[in-house]
Amino acid sequence: MTKILIIYTGGTIGMVNDAKTGFLIPFDFEQIKDNVPELARLDYQLSVHSFSPIIDSSNMHPEQWKVLAELIESNYEEFDGFVILHGSDTMSFTASALSFMLKNLAKPVILTGSQLPIGEIRTDAKENLITALEIAATKSEGKAVVPEVCIYFDNQLFRGNRSLKYNTEKFEAFRSPNYPILAEAGVQLTFFHKEILPVPTEAFYIQTEFDANIGVLKIYPGMTEEVVYAVTRSKVKAIVLETFGSGNATTAKWFTDALGEAIENGKHIVDISQCKRGSVQLGMYETSSELKKMGVISGYDMTFETAVTKFMYLLGANLSTEEIRMQMETPIAGELTN
Ligand code: ASP
Repeated sequence: MTKILIIYTGGTIGMVNDAKTGFLIPFDFEQIKDNVPELARLDYQLSVHSFSPIIDSSNMHPEQWKVLAELIESNYEEFDGFVILHGSDTMSFTASALSFMLKNLAKPVILTGSQLPIGEIRTDAKENLITALEIAATKSEGKAVVPEVCIYFDNQLFRGNRSLKYNTEKFEAFRSPNYPILAEAGVQLTFFHKEILPVPTEAFYIQTEFDANIGVLKIYPGMTEEVVYAVTRSKVKAIVLETFGSGNATTAKWFTDALGEAIENGKHIVDISQCKRGSVQLGMYETSSELKKMGVISGYDMTFETAVTKFMYLLGANLSTEEIRMQMETPIAGELTN
């Protein structure tokens, strides 16, 4: 019988209104089970591991990503697939982080959650949970059909490290602007096999050291030197620079000097676009040629979530400057197209 491990971390899916404050607060897994009697009709053996305490995903931290990776590692042989119930707010960060931590993953790791709590009549939670379980259980010729870390939400399966939370109100909470969806749930569950990573042949292992000492610089017209230097002269080891269009920024000397000084002092800077769709092309315009010359790394079409978690992962791996630069610009878990 197919065995699936459900890891319940928290999020709206299992929240209830606190009688005293009226706020939505997380509740335990029993309440989820009570609301989805269909679970008992599935032909799989389900086991559940709940985080303690259950958290709103705004409180997620690299420490919890490590816990998730270790849980998957210690249950890897026993289970055919994993479903992680997680708040949608930071789900794409967790999915990206796991895609780097879980090496040679040959089994599905599907994150899902919902926009409405599972106890609400119009909830999207039941469909998300049941289909995520089905995807985690799907095999072909004895092998997992989706050997990847994914997000399943509102009938679509996304590669986790290509996804971002797009909408706070619609059931369609996620999008993957720079990579096609991996599967779609309609009357049938349709997998788009050519978009899915192949099943690896090497042995599975995890790499969980993350260094969160990074900064973010989102530029805007009128940004002052003081604000830029607050980041470039801080103690961070790497900076995610969110630029205009295809990777462009002001050519003002003080700005390029600030970035140049940071790079000379050993900081890594990756350039990703504020546009959600399309890729950075360093050197296409004069306004990015200086960045390229000084050694700014191209983030190509990586999401913000992925650039952040990839830096944390590479910094944690204790690599040389050259190696970090090279790996940042190379897809290591299907997260970018260069
Ligand atoms: N605040 C919630 C969370 O991320 C939102 C959700 O689950 O959709 O935990």
